[in-house]
Amino acid sequence: MTGTRNLSGIHVTQHAPCWGDLDFAVADDRWKNATDLIRLCEPVLYVCGNCPFRAACIRQVRPSKSEFSGICGGRIWVNGVIVRTLPDAGPEDLPPPVNRKACGTAAGVRAHRRAVEQQCPKCESFDQGGQLELPDSA
Ligand code: SF4
Ligand SMILES: [Zn+2]
Repeated sequence: MTGTRNLSGIHVTQHAPCWGDLDFAVADDRWKNATDLIRLCEPVLYVCGNCPFRAACIRQVRPSKSEFSGICGGRIWVNGVIVRTLPDAGPEDLPPPVNRKACGTAAGVRAHRRAVEQQCPKCESFDQGGQLELPDSA
């Protein structure tokens, strides 16, 4: 992972391809906004493509909850939001879904997305059905 490495309890494994790579330690004072961070991180994001620890990386860092900025689990995150994803990084890297009352509806799909977790089976079939509500302004 990149970004702040002093989050408590986070220990990127020595077997990870990013271990000790200074390009994965972007200092906070080197970027001011998402564009800066993407420019710094995108050239090394490919390294996550060979990493067998993508899901573990996301489990450890919990980037959504910790509002993480940097590379984690094959994605570039800015304040806990994914702004770039490796083409082959699938939802299986993300935490399992929380079941909610809204599951099986567009609101359920959105709730999973906001929590940056996998879609549950009910929401997944709904999501793939292309039945998402269009915004009011559409
Ligand atoms: S997924 Fe990427 S950032 Fe995480 S341990 Fe692997 S190489 Fe490092
Ligand atoms: Zn659901």
